[in-house]
Amino acid sequence: MLGLMQDRPLLISSLIEHAATFHPETEIVSRLPEGTTHRTHWRGIAKQAKQLANALATLGITAGDRVGTLAWNSHRHLALYYGVSGSGAILHTVNPRLLPEQIDYIVNHAEDKVLFFDIGFAPLVEKLAPTLRSVTAFIAMTDRTHMPAIDVPNLLCYEELIAAQSDQYRWPELEERSASSLCYTSGTTGNPKGVLYSHRSTMLHTLMELAPDTFGVSSAESVMLVVPMFHANAWGTPYAAAMVGAKLVLPGPHLDGKSIFELMRDEQVTFTQGVPTVWAMLFQHLDAHPELDARSLGVKRVGIGGAAVAQAMLERFERDFGAEVVQGWGMTETSPIGVISKLLKKHEALAPEALLKIKLKQGRGVWGVDLKILDENGAALPWDGQAFGHLHVRGPWIASGYFKGEGGSVLDAEGFFPTGDVATIDPDGYLQLVDRAKDVIKSGGEWISSIDLENAASGHPAVAEAAIIGIAHPKWQERPLLIVVKRAGHEVTREALLDYLATRVAKWWLPDDVVFVDQLPHTATGKLLKTKLREQFRAHRLPTL
Ligand code: ADP
Repeated sequence: MLGLMQDRPLLISSLIEHAATFHPETEIVSRLPEGTTHRTHWRGIAKQAKQLANALATLGITAGDRVGTLAWNSHRHLALYYGVSGSGAILHTVNPRLLPEQIDYIVNHAEDKVLFFDIGFAPLVEKLAPTLRSVTAFIAMTDRTHMPAIDVPNLLCYEELIAAQSDQYRWPELEERSASSLCYTSGTTGNPKGVLYSHRSTMLHTLMELAPDTFGVSSAESVMLVVPMFHANAWGTPYAAAMVGAKLVLPGPHLDGKSIFELMRDEQVTFTQGVPTVWAMLFQHLDAHPELDARSLGVKRVGIGGAAVAQAMLERFERDFGAEVVQGWGMTETSPIGVISKLLKKHEALAPEALLKIKLKQGRGVWGVDLKILDENGAALPWDGQAFGHLHVRGPWIASGYFKGEGGSVLDAEGFFPTGDVATIDPDGYLQLVDRAKDVIKSGGEWISSIDLENAASGHPAVAEAAIIGIAHPKWQERPLLIVVKRAGHEVTREALLDYLATRVAKWWLPDDVVFVDQLPHTATGKLLKTKLREQFRAHRLPTL
């Protein structure tokens, strides 16, 4: 027997309608590529989204067509989130930090019909345009005054395009499982693969993002999205903010420490999200300006994911900002919420040291995401916080496969998605990431976690950033090499660093060597680019050989 409740589809358009109706005046603040600060509100975004939906129709976009964006976080990008998906087309957010060849591959693979771009990417668009076979119009996200002088076919101006359109539009009643947006993984190995989200998956994920035991976004907040809107839908927060009518602060391309600090201060940001590398830039700015008082900002929570949060980062946010760090683990394929680190009631009684250990774990399972860890033979491992194995996940906002069937069928026999990560899970359901399977260091038949070693090394006051890679070793198979960027104005020797680590990690984990570099390579989503480091140090001779 079926229930007798209304069968209303879960649609992204309902978010913008809700925000415009119940939070019309709540501000959306953007720092634009043009250098100015723009202010609108949820009603303004809803109006623009409807104008966009009408404009897309005039450009020949119909349901299921892909609409590409190459853009930073701004009110225009936010309006595209709603105008494109709401009208039944698919928003394809392209990561502009990828290599031009990868962008070319992705746009062609997705068959984007039109491409919206920030003016900062005009030279890139001009270079790529001749080979972007499916794109029939290029829309510069700016006004007439700032139009780039580039030679591409059918170059349009965003502000003119929408100004010519009515703001009356009826959102179609789509099937909730229709595709809503598309985001490619950065493809550090092989070609990038497309993850195709649906309205339903997005809406369920959005609900979970609002829970107090996850990111707990509410209408009272000023939320700054430092995570780019091309990185797994900015972790779902552009949707969550609309669902509760939170104020949104969008920094555009201005992600340097100074700009981020000023936005936090000027827009009274209470919650912000980003990857560790951007917070490292903010810390550098604060180091250079001791007169700045981070605590006076009033930031309450900082959501961090994409890479492990080092102890030093967590402690600095707590100490200097008075802010709680909410770590999350996830991936483009998981929308991205997989697990979120929040404490349980029973942890209130714990001493600071024990508490820190829990806070540094990636997080606890949330409703909607089933977890399991498997050994090399595919047998389930116990949740004892010790046994580590391949992490598989399942749920209504986890990918079931890649766009156009790339990579074949990816799920295991129980319908779980293999993440490629190695993790432990403790009896309370807290997951701790050991490594990506391909980054873990195999030494003498045992595994060494590069994440743990990097975390320990970055606790040294002279270390700005640390990376660990495995170097081939005839006796041990692999041994760890520590690669370090020193903090400006600080000195430390190889021996001092090894002494520091000796008191913090098991003896057999100690790196066999330390090298100092000026900077470390990162992926397009801000992670250490281990493939490049392994290439760079392939010929490195360990002193232990
Ligand atoms: P990319 O496209 O760069 O792969 P994703 O955001 O999809 O971008 O990357 C997901 C991966 O990032 C995960 O599989 C995991 O290895 C890593 N990751 C994400 N969050 C964390 C975290 N909190 N701690 C450690 N690693 C993380």
